[in-house]
Amino acid sequence: MTSSQQGIGMTSQRTRDRLITRLKEQGIESSEVLSVIKDLPRHLFVDEALASRAYEDTALPIGHGQTISQPFIVAKMTEILLEGSAKKKVLEVGTGSGYQTAVLSRLVDRVFSVERISPLQNQARERFYQLKLNNIKLKHSDGSWGWDLNAPYDGIIVTCAPEEIPQDLLRQLAPGGRLVIPVGGSQQSLRVIDRNGDAFEETELDAVSFVPLLSGQI
Ligand code: SAH
Repeated sequence: MTSSQQGIGMTSQRTRDRLITRLKEQGIESSEVLSVIKDLPRHLFVDEALASRAYEDTALPIGHGQTISQPFIVAKMTEILLEGSAKKKVLEVGTGSGYQTAVLSRLVDRVFSVERISPLQNQARERFYQLKLNNIKLKHSDGSWGWDLNAPYDGIIVTCAPEEIPQDLLRQLAPGGRLVIPVGGSQQSLRVIDRNGDAFEETELDAVSFVPLLSGQI
């Protein structure tokens, strides 16, 4: 750790506690999720110039026109994903900074994450190495195809918004599995899809605002 990272770590405990209080006030109930967010150093997932803002409940730029998701939405989506049956194997589409991936890695056995922008993926990989998060596998690809090799997944979380739910993601969901995904263009909403055998039950939740899911890889 560099001295500047330590400095931020030391001064940030109160700000981190404030963030947890705020997440609780906003309705996050899972003590496991709150505890992971409290311990995970979000400032290591953003550029050093933005580190002092890392414990504000806000999305921040991570380069390449992308953002690290707001802590509230990370907490909410994680809580929804993990509700109900145990989730051992989870797929994430849109690694970005790797923050959501890291939160998941502390709550499930194995996390697979797909990112289309290579430099973001490489930075995320370096962060996981530093934090000794050893149960994460990354792939540089268009995540609308999912990651067939390791399917089926008990849970799939998508952190960018497609216009429609990609069929491959539904196909790669295990029976009893759950998909949490923002869907839409200028108007998006969070959807939860539960697979029961070959039936898919969809629930529409609140309006959200994610970067778009784009095709291809760079
Ligand atoms: N979970 C991330 C969110 C980053 S923003 C975080 O908290 O940091 C969403 C990410 O989805 C971006 O990094 C973007 O490049 C990625 N993305 C967009 N379309 C994609 C696609 N088709 N396949 C994989 N990743 C995609």
